[in-house]
Order: sequence, then C-alpha cells, then structure tokens
Amino acid sequence: MSQQASPDITDVIVVGAGPAGSATAFYLASAGLDVLVLEKSQFPREKVCGDGLTPRAVKALTAMGVPLAESDGWLRNKGLRIIGGGGRIELDWPELSSYPGFGLVRNRLDFDEILARHAEKAGARVLQGVNVTGPVRDDRTGRVVGVTAHETSNGEKTERTFRGRVVVAADGNSSRLSVALGLRKRDDRPLGVAVRSYYTSPRHDDDYLEAWLDLWDGDKLLPGYGWIFGMGDGTSNVGLGLLNTSEAFGNIDYRVLLRRWLAGMPEEWGLSEENRTAPVRGAALPMGFNRTPHFADGVLLAGDSGGMVNPFNGEGIAYALEAGEIAARTIVQALARPTAAATDTVLRTYPVQLKDAWGGYYTLGRTFVHMIGHPTFMRFATKHGVKRPYIMRFTMKLLGNLTEARGGDAVDRVLNAVSKMTPAA
Ligand SMILES: Cc1cc2nc3c(=O)[nH]c(=O)nc-3n(C[C@H](O)[C@H](O)[C@H](O)COP(=O)(O)OP(=O)(O)OC[C@H]3O[C@@H](n4cnc5c(N)ncnc54)[C@H](O)[C@@H]3O)c2cc1C
Repeated sequence: MSQQASPDITDVIVVGAGPAGSATAFYLASAGLDVLVLEKSQFPREKVCGDGLTPRAVKALTAMGVPLAESDGWLRNKGLRIIGGGGRIELDWPELSSYPGFGLVRNRLDFDEILARHAEKAGARVLQGVNVTGPVRDDRTGRVVGVTAHETSNGEKTERTFRGRVVVAADGNSSRLSVALGLRKRDDRPLGVAVRSYYTSPRHDDDYLEAWLDLWDGDKLLPGYGWIFGMGDGTSNVGLGLLNTSEAFGNIDYRVLLRRWLAGMPEEWGLSEENRTAPVRGAALPMGFNRTPHFADGVLLAGDSGGMVNPFNGEGIAYALEAGEIAARTIVQALARPTAAATDTVLRTYPVQLKDAWGGYYTLGRTFVHMIGHPTFMRFATKHGVKRPYIMRFTMKLLGNLTEARGGDAVDRVLNAVSKMTPAA
C-alpha cells in the first residue's frame, strides 16, 4: 500500500548513515541544528569493506569523542606489513603529534551503527528503512529544498516527503541523489573495484595490517593490492582491489583472482574455501574526487558520493569522516546568515575547502594510479622499493597521507610542499 504522509521539516537532511552521513549529523547536531538522517537500510547492516582504520581515521573518530577502548571491541594495530617483489617489511605507524601512533579494525556491521548512535546521542534523528528516491526542488529557484523517499516499515511501503534548508548527499558510491541532480562519475578520475570475505584464521589477532603487492594476471603485475586484516574475533578480513588504470580492470574475474591469490598462502593460515565464513562480495571505490561539483543546487556531497577515497591506498572512511566535519562546519555558518543568498555564498565555499584539504594530494594520487597502471613500473617499484626501509617509510607516509601538519622531518616537509605546490583540480 502506498500513501502520502505529512512532510517532515528540518534544518538539514542527511541522506545515508555511513561514516560520512553520521559524522555530518554528529557535528551539525552538536552545534544545535535540527538534523534528520535518512538511511535506507536497518542497522546492523553489512557494508562491503576491508574494515581497516589508519591513524587518520582514528584521529577523526577521536575528534568526535567516539569511545575507542579495546574493551569496547576495537582491535588496535601497530602498523603496516608490506609483502611484495620478494621482500617483506613491517612499518610502524609514524610517531607524529598530528596523528596517533595506532590504527584500528572494526567490522562495518557494528562500526556504522556505533557512529549512527553517536550522532543520535548528539541530538540527530536517524530514520532507518527510508530510501531516498529524489530531490524536491523549489518551483521558482530550482534549488533543492527536500527529498522524496519510500519508507518501509513492517513490510508496508509509504511515500514520504522531507523538507530541509540544506541537503547532504552521503549516500555512498552509487549516490542516487547525486545522479538525480545530474552529477555523474567522472571518467577522467580513478576508480577501484575490490572484493572481500572473512575466513576463520589463526592470524585473526595480527597486530599489523598486511598488504600484498603481488597480484598477477599472467605475467602482468596488477595495480592494486591484496590485504589480510585480522578482526580479533577468530576471523580475518581478506580481500583485494584493483585500479581502473590497468588493462585487466574490466576483464578480470575478481573472485577467481582472490581464490588464485589465496591458493598460494601457507596452509596453516586457514585461508581456504572451507574456512570462508561469508560470501565474497565486491564494490567500487570512487577516488580522487571522481564526482564533482561537491556543492550544487543546495546539496553538498560528502564521502563516497563525492568520490573522496584516497587514490594512493583505497582508504575512504577517514575522508568520509573528515568531509562530514567540513560539511557540517560550513552548513552551521551558512544557516546563521540572514538571507538565502548569503547562506549559499557560504555553502559555495565547501568545494574550495575540500580542495584546500586534499586537492593537491589527490592530483598527485591521480598521477600515481596512472604510473602503477603500467605493469613494468609496478614491477620495478615493488622489486626495488619493498626491500628498502627508507623508501618504504617515505611510501607509507605518502600513501597514508600521514605527515606532520607543521614542521616534522624531511619526509614530512617534502611531501607537504609537493602536495601544496600541486594544483588541485
Ligand atoms: C571492498 C572494499 C574495501 C574497503 N576497505 C576499506 C578499508 O579497509 N578502510 C577504509 O577506510 N575504506 C575502505 N573502503 C572504502 C570505504 O568503504 C568507503 O570509502 C566508506 O564506506 C565511505 O563512507 P560513506 O559514508 O561515504 O558511504 P557508505 O559507507 O557507502 O554509506 C552510505 C550510506 O548511505 C545509505 N544509502 C545509500 N543510498 C541511499 C538512499 N537512496 N536513501 C537512503 N540511504 C541511502 C547506505 O545504505 C549507506 O548506509 C573499502 C571499500 C570497498 C568496496
């Protein structure tokens, strides 16, 4: 049965309760705004992910006041173990004043719910089972003033309309809302595809995140990596991802590649079909600002909807959380302005702030993904890099975007200067 319910009116509508949506809602509600989060699924819900959190994500979670004690089910890690080109190296996360010296692992099944509840505690209203179907526009100005949605409750579908002064699209990679606004993915920007599953393994409490650079398609070394992240619950999250800069990208069976890669692992690790505890699932990683503009018609894009995954390492959670904070900070100032025109003047600074934050770095990242798309370069870099600790420490800071904001060592200063000098686009 379908019926029209009365419209719900709020300051800000946030579409999607992933990390980007919950962070946005948390910061907005903390500033005293009325926030409505519309989430199509019901928690706890699965999200295909590696479940790995670098110190960058830990910093963002700490800033939100999310309790991160190990007794609350968070598994800490010390750094990254990189295996490739016949080499193997363990690199501890850098000791910096800007970032904590540890990472975390947490299954998205409860990670996302924890964040949504955290936003709720700050005062946001989170409605689950509400699938946003499109924007509502002002007849005169064309500006988005709300969204339409299907709400499913007890098996019944209801059509609803929600109105807000600002709308945030935090609805992930497919971003139905962005597409409805005519904002499509950019072909000139990187995209990754990754698959993952869980395996019962004695390596479940590994205190390093492990990355394997040896992914082969015949004699071609593929641009991407495989990972083994211990979950601390008897299982490991195991998966692999590739970039669209390789010829193999659209023509490879990722599940077969995963099986082939795991067939070469030591038997005692238990990464076999018999020990697989979940289906192999895949999803896209939209990288390097691959959907723009990030503000259009009264709607801000945050997280995967705006293609904010780091092209160097495939990390998206930290950037989704940071984008939520930037979006919220901008909206709070915008809604304090006396006129609609003044509000929009502030909102228009959002894409500029994102570019200031990561624009130069993402431009470098786009060059990086093109370089490693060439098997010869990839093979050279893996063969000669992994065995050299100094190169790998530099690489870790570069790939993880983990440099001291001010000062720091020579590596920090070089990386910061190059990112700043590189034009954001
Ligand atoms: C295989 C794989 C492994 C990955 N591993 C890592 C990793 O280890 N570490 C890391 O940092 N990143 C990783 N990423 C990237 C990371 O998962 C994303 O960047 C991150 O989830 C982005 O958060 P988000 O909030 O923008 O979007 P999402 O997490 O996708 O959240 C979007 C939310 O919006 C909801 N939604 C969608 N459409 C609608 C609608 N129409 N109406 C209402 N709600 C809607 C969804 O249900 C969802 O809850 C990985 C990605 C993949 C595919």
